[in-house]
Amino acid sequence: MLDRRRMQRNRKRLEDERARLQQEVERMEVPSDERERPGYGNHMADSASEVFEQTKNLAVCQRLRRTLELVNKALDKMDEGVYGPCESCGEAIDPARLKALPYAALCISCQTRAERGAFH
Ligand SMILES: [Zn+2]
Repeated sequence: MLDRRRMQRNRKRLEDERARLQQEVERMEVPSDERERPGYGNHMADSASEVFEQTKNLAVCQRLRRTLELVNKALDKMDEGVYGPCESCGEAIDPARLKALPYAALCISCQTRAERGAFH
């Protein structure tokens, strides 16, 4: 289990991360609304790259949202006092891993296994 000081440091990092991610998501959502506004240009030549940009933005946006979900979940777990153990095997997650990735829900071996599983 993490001691109180580490816990507080991780909470601070998670809160900063949440604020940053929320800002990013908002920033990404606004320009596409602007583009979709009726009467806003009709540049055929640009449409292909615009579609590409939108697809790319969408992927980035989805990734941001997923990370944001993990961050929120980690903060919820802190509130419930269950932050720290791996969600899969229940072993304590290496504090160094939590320092690098405060919203990690799985220990390294479970994470590796999950990622391998996703590829097969
Ligand atoms: Zn595990």
